[in-house]
Amino acid sequence: MHLSHSNLKQDIQKLFDQFHGYSESMWEPFLDFECYGCASPVRIYYEPWEFAMGCYGYTVVEIIEVMNWEKK
Ligand SMILES: [Zn+2]
Repeated sequence: MHLSHSNLKQDIQKLFDQFHGYSESMWEPFLDFECYGCASPVRIYYEPWEFAMGCYGYTVVEIIEVMNWEKK
């Protein structure tokens, strides 16, 4: 099951990885996207938990966003 997804450019993904402290062994699902309003890159780390067979809830663990992003 692949739980991480990114719509962001590679260099922005790397910045988020570095900021968060990326390690290959860590299993930390995340979702990357551009803010619909200002196009600022955002990453949300979350934790899935199964509450019934095959049914999952998701707890937000951390949100990273870029301050002072200039919309292009
Ligand atoms: Zn925004």
